[in-house]
Amino acid sequence: MLPKSHPRFESLRQRDLLIEGYKAGATAIAGLIAFGRGEAYDYLLGEKTPKSAITAIEASAALLLSAKNPVISINGNTAVLCPRELVKLSEILGAKLEINLFYRTEKRVGIIEKILKENGAKQVYGIRPTAELKGTESERRKVDRKGIYSADVVFVALEDGDRTEALISAGKKVIAVDLNPLSRTAKTASITIVDNIIRAVPLLIETVKKLKHTDKAELEKIVSNYDNEKTLKSMGAEILSGLKNQSQP
Ligand code: ATP
Ligand code: MG
Repeated sequence: MLPKSHPRFESLRQRDLLIEGYKAGATAIAGLIAFGRGEAYDYLLGEKTPKSAITAIEASAALLLSAKNPVISINGNTAVLCPRELVKLSEILGAKLEINLFYRTEKRVGIIEKILKENGAKQVYGIRPTAELKGTESERRKVDRKGIYSADVVFVALEDGDRTEALISAGKKVIAVDLNPLSRTAKTASITIVDNIIRAVPLLIETVKKLKHTDKAELEKIVSNYDNEKTLKSMGAEILSGLKNQSQP
């Protein structure tokens, strides 16, 4: 048991979720390494949601609310870090949940499906893929015809650059949650939320609730006013200024 009084409680709690997720067969061992890379960037953010991420979250909520077939892509890390919140997000948006794995095995897919269902998911896509996404060789090419294959907006997290590029090439809008503003995913996505998925999803749920009754034209305005390159640049500036303040006596 982790003592709640530990100064690094939240960080240790997240590590614990992944270790347990690995032991349960949901998370791939490479997922633990990917998480470690994310943690390093989170440290640079002071483990707080940066201002630029709030702008990206607002644009994401507007884009998801305007989508015809939004799909939330689930992998072995996101399934154990915040399954309840991801299911909730899919419910309030009427979005589909689809399992999509780099290290895909039928067993791992089944374990993740069970986690999602235990957390309230009624239907999970991607169990028996019915289509292939062009432009990526990995197991992540296997998608559901009614899900990612025909989606207009795909929400991804801890994503690989290859598939982000393939999704964009297929004409989809991609919302990525990635703590690393320099990754290919961050640079390729339509909207990049540079934040920890654990903090970003609850904030996104709140923002979707806030914008739920906004008219279509207003939502479109929020999306078209958003500039991902600019947001990523100000992200870099936020990290630098945080570091500068840290080093001041
Ligand atoms: P890319 O393929 O996009 O260039 P990469 O190869 O550097 O990225 P991957 O292992 O493919 O990295 O993807 C994992 C990404 O997920 C990393 O950029 C990492 O920063 C990010 N990440 C890890 N943990 C979290 C988390 N809890 N929340 C948000 N992002 C995370
Ligand atoms: Mg990668």
